[in-house]
Amino acid sequence: MTVPIQPGATLGIVGGGQLGRMFVAAAHRMGYRVCVLCPSPEEPAGQVADELVRGELADGDAVAKLASMTDVITLEFENVNVDALARAEGHAWLRPGLSLLEVARDRRREKRTFASLGLPLPRFAVIESEEDCERTGADFPMPAVLKTALAGYDGKGQRRIESPEALGAAWKELGQVPTVLEAFVPFVGELSVVGVRGHDGEIALYEPCHNTHVDHVLDLSLAPAPLSPEVTREAEEITRALLEGLDVTGVLCVELFLLEDGRLLVNEIAPRPHNSGHLTIEGHATSQFEQQVRAACGLPLGSTRRVVPSVAMCNLLGDLWQAGPPNWPGALAVPGANLHLYGKSEARPGRKMGHITAVGADPEEARSRALEARARLLEPAQSAATAPSAGGS
Ligand code: AMP
Repeated sequence: MTVPIQPGATLGIVGGGQLGRMFVAAAHRMGYRVCVLCPSPEEPAGQVADELVRGELADGDAVAKLASMTDVITLEFENVNVDALARAEGHAWLRPGLSLLEVARDRRREKRTFASLGLPLPRFAVIESEEDCERTGADFPMPAVLKTALAGYDGKGQRRIESPEALGAAWKELGQVPTVLEAFVPFVGELSVVGVRGHDGEIALYEPCHNTHVDHVLDLSLAPAPLSPEVTREAEEITRALLEGLDVTGVLCVELFLLEDGRLLVNEIAPRPHNSGHLTIEGHATSQFEQQVRAACGLPLGSTRRVVPSVAMCNLLGDLWQAGPPNWPGALAVPGANLHLYGKSEARPGRKMGHITAVGADPEEARSRALEARARLLEPAQSAATAPSAGGS
């Protein structure tokens, strides 16, 4: 395998969701072919793949097959079976590598890594037994949040704990699996920084996004975030420290809590493009997905400069479909609004079906345009215009 992997080559991606679909779009634009490993051709990335390896993400044989068909493998989901991915090593590059995945998929390792790099994080304790519940609960500050160490995302596998006595019951509710107890953070804002590190150690950072969550799921992201230069610098330094400390080749997103006094605490990392970075497609010179392609292929990284005054992104959850088909023309009539749908046929409540990005002259305009476009999806559609008859008069 030689660097760079040239356009025309076939790239592999583990996972068939929307992040994979947007990776495929970026790779196609640059002249690459993409082979997707996922259980069904109906999945968002499966629909647009050049080739498909049909299988479960934890299936080592399927990963080995993907490796035999591609020069490099990247992923769109970190809760993967690392042993299965190890089957790719020696056949195709893995970007990100196994050691980063070991950290990012396990909250225990993640938090210990943040601490060992000297990064600020909420107080935490590992809870793996009833004994841990009793011993730790006794002097841990409350309220707190108990999170499963593995396979948690979008607030799944989390319980808020109000008192030491409630800890044991919450641990049982989560299935008595390894967990991390974390102090509840009275944050005034949530931020994320998407960073990229290339094959040769080159680093490119996007400016921080300001994020708002509803029911633990990202609802709206905004750039630029309303931050002082000091907070922006600190967020960038933390991201740089993680990209270097974890020897990342690829995209890494760092989620941060902003405290009232301006300090930042690291919440978690994602070793891949992130929902908050979707706004880089319209907002920045190079999208986070193109950076994933560039880093995976050993190409120079692209500019992370914002090319519009402001950009906002809001998620479209399946709830918007419950009263009937959304009013797409209504949403797209909002100036500056762009629609992204992921090709999912079943609109279940809470399921991420797509997103809307809106650009504006300032953050308030971008934010209000994105929210207005989404609100219009629920308004009754105007009756369809009559199409001109064939041949005309
Ligand atoms: P996570 O999956 O850990 O990113 O959690 C999802 C969301 O839950 C975060 O974006 C926060 O809004 C909230 N959350 C998670 N952990 C904490 C915490 N320790 N204190 C306060 N809110 C939290």
